[in-house]
This record gives sequence, structure tokens and C-alpha cells, in this order.
Amino acid sequence: METIFNTQHALHHSPGELVGDGYVPAFEKPERAELILARVKEVGLGKVSAPIEHDLADVLRIHDAGMVELLRTAAAEWAALGRTGPIAPFTWATRGMREDRIPRSLNGRLSYYCFDAGTPLTATSWEAIKASADTALTAAGRLIGGAGSAFALCRPPGHHAGSDHYGGYCFLNNAAIAAQKLRDNGAGRVAILDVDYHHGNGTQQIFYHRDDVLVVNLHGDPDSEYPFRLGYADEPGAGAGEGFNLNLPLPPGTAWAGYEAALRQGIARIAAFAPDALVVSLGVDTYKGDPISHFKLDHDDYLRLGGIVKTLNKPTLFVMEGGYAVAEIGINAVNVLSGFLGG
Ligand SMILES: [Zn+2]
Repeated sequence: METIFNTQHALHHSPGELVGDGYVPAFEKPERAELILARVKEVGLGKVSAPIEHDLADVLRIHDAGMVELLRTAAAEWAALGRTGPIAPFTWATRGMREDRIPRSLNGRLSYYCFDAGTPLTATSWEAIKASADTALTAAGRLIGGAGSAFALCRPPGHHAGSDHYGGYCFLNNAAIAAQKLRDNGAGRVAILDVDYHHGNGTQQIFYHRDDVLVVNLHGDPDSEYPFRLGYADEPGAGAGEGFNLNLPLPPGTAWAGYEAALRQGIARIAAFAPDALVVSLGVDTYKGDPISHFKLDHDDYLRLGGIVKTLNKPTLFVMEGGYAVAEIGINAVNVLSGFLGG
């Protein structure tokens, strides 16, 4: 399996995040991607290639132009204000606020488009964000070219980013951008299977009204887990998309037995949908040692997970999402790919 990897990812290095009882060093950090790449090479997964730069039009198929412009230009505006710290909002919208008015000021636009305190931009983040989307697009191109599988080693991750909002360490939704690219190049139906510990709220929102992209999410119950405000079982899709979104929230402490049952339920739904291609949002923060999550999967379970995904027998694009047990992230992520390949 070919891996697409962007060295520019390290240009996004979050200075920290607000969680628990204070501002702490960011869990989403450059070492994550480097350790996955090292493991890819160690097991001889296959060729490693750099992404091809794509036109921003591919990103704008999914994302609001105003949000993309903010991500692209916020650093320069921040610097012009004489600020040197992390670029983040200090207020967030909730019920009772206007949705129809986008403030012109930088603080106002950050408040409008960003939904949490864990996703600051830095002076060089945009280059990494764009390269991460290019990584997913390049890997999607391999499937379009006839490859049976590919691994987009994306960083920063993407599945919490919606069409016009970002957060959860995510800025652009790499998996959604790749899925749309597949749709635009011959795939009539695409399924997205999100196995990250956290609900992929952005991916759900983007495709919620569509019946050409099925979204299946397995995740920690949002009643107690991030992102809290989406990811419940009673979100089936709406309009033409009704019946094309499946959420399988699981309780804290879920180990392989409970996880496998939900995974097989999701796989059965995808098989019934009969997609032309599959995109897997690959998060390994379901690992028992993950510092911010509460499932109990172990190294070998990721081999099993990959093997079960393989039973769908579809062209499959793996897109890297979360996973914060950094020392084990390479083993866990690459085990999914090895399991898929039958290794
Ligand atoms: Zn996650």
C-alpha cells in the first residue's frame, strides 16, 4: 500500500490547548506523523510519496470560502495587529446568537468559524493545513488511477471540520475532500467509515443531506465525550440523506468484543449501500493507553479491525485522523493497514 506523506505537516505545531483544569501542551503534535511514517517504513508497507499540490477548488467543493480565506490569511492579520501568540477565538457562538451576520473583524470571524479552544492557528499553520488536504487528494488520486488502497498520512487531522466551522485539532476535512474527489471522478457512491474515538461531527454535517455519501461513525458516546453536541444514535441523516448517516456511540471502557459488534454492524450497512469506494477516517485514539480517550483496544485489535474492513472488498482510502498515545501510534495505525492487507 502506498503512503502519501507531507513533510510540511510540522509547520503546524499547536502551542497548547484549553482542557481539564488549564492550558496544557497540545496532544496533537508533529511527532505523531513522524512516528507513523517510521512504522510504515519499518514494516515495509510500501512506497512513500509526497503529495501533489492541488487547486484550492477541490477544497472549496466541501468548505465555505469565507472559512478557507480565514484559515489562509488569519496569520497575516494577526501579525498586523501586533500579536505573536496562538490565533484563536475567545468567544464561541451558542443558541440565541445570530447566524446570518459574519463579523468583519478577525476576532469576530474566529468566533464565527471556530468552535473550540483546542485548535489555534500559528504563523505557519496554513501551509500544513493545505498540504494535509493535498495529501488526501493525492491518495484519492491513486484510487482514481486504479489502486486498490492507499494511505493518506494526513496531519493536521480533519474529521471535526465541517463545511463552515473548524475545531477539534481539525481545519479542513481531509476525508470529506477526498470522498468528494472520488465522487467527482467516477465513483457513484462513496462510504466513509470513521473509527476515530471521537465522533466525526464535521464529516456528518457535510454529508448529512446527501444520499451519495454514506457516513458511518463508531465513537465514544458524545453525552460524555468530545464533541458533545453531535454523534448521538438518533441522527439518521435528513432530507435526501435520511438513512445515510449511521452513528454507533459506545460507552467508556468499550473493549474489542463490544467494539467488534458495532464495527460489524457498520460494515453490514456499508455493504448494503454497495459503494464504489470506501474512505476510512483512521483514528487510533481508541487505544487502551490513549491519554484523552476511554476505549480499551489493544495492538492486535487493530489488525482485526483492518481485516474486517477488508471484507468489504472495495477500493479503500485510509485517511489519518486522531491518536494521542504517541509512542504506540505507529504500531496501532499501521496494524490497521497490515490487517487490511492480510499481513
Ligand atoms: Zn479523536
